[in-house]
This record gives sequence, C-alpha cells and structure tokens, in this order.
Amino acid sequence: MAKGMKRSIGIDAKPPEKKCEDENCPWHGRLSLRGKVFTGTVRSAKSHNTAIVEWGFNKFIKKYERYERRKSRVTAHNPPCIHARENELVMIAECRPLTATKRFVVVARLGKGEIEIRGEDKKLIADARKAAAEKEKEEAK
Ligand SMILES: [Zn+2]
Repeated sequence: MAKGMKRSIGIDAKPPEKKCEDENCPWHGRLSLRGKVFTGTVRSAKSHNTAIVEWGFNKFIKKYERYERRKSRVTAHNPPCIHARENELVMIAECRPLTATKRFVVVARLGKGEIEIRGEDKKLIADARKAAAEKEKEEAK
C-alpha cells in the first residue's frame, strides 16, 4: 500500500483525522498489530512520540474473597497523527517491540477521561483486610 495511505488496522477504532509519515504508525506506516487491546489514561506524553498509559483493573484476591483494584502502566508509541496528550483516554494495541520498553501503540484518542483507583475502592480493600483479620482472631480463640 502506498505510503501515507490510511489502511484498516483490524481493530474497531476511529481513524485519526491527520496523516503522518511515521513508519511505526498503525494507520499510515507499516506497523502491524497483534495481541491485546487496552483502554487507559495517558499519564505522561513528555518523551518524543511516546505516551505512558495507565489503567485500572480488578484482581480477585482469594484470601479475602474480594476484588482488589490494581493498575497497570505501559509505555506506548504515540504516532504524530494521533498525538495523545496527558490525561486523555486512549485505546492502545499490542505490537512488536519498538524500543526496549515499547510494545504498544496508541491507536485512537477517546477524549478526556480517567481510569484509575478511586478512594472508595481502597476503603473496600481495607475493610476486606480488617474483616479477614477479625475472622482470624475469632478462629484463634
Ligand atoms: Zn499516522
């Protein structure tokens, strides 16, 4: 396909309005996507064409029989045509390793947003720990 042409990336994402000349752009370059797709918030976009993306997820903790909010953080390639900024919600997709740490690429901007641990979730975890500790105490009697 001719350079600079928009192509299908195999993911249901809105194509960027701008074009770019980046070889490592999934829309305009030769980068192919495979593996996982995540949605997260851009924590930092200071490095050149790089975004640090973070998102929260629930992990089941067997001992407490509760879910704990955890977060994940990866560095992702931020193509010039997308140019995601800090605190923006983005969709990222897994790709081949681009640098020592970059294995993801930003495929779409989803607007302003946050996906992160909220205060009440921390309280829920604390409550679960307290309940488990009390149960242990009672069993020790
Ligand atoms: Zn592009």
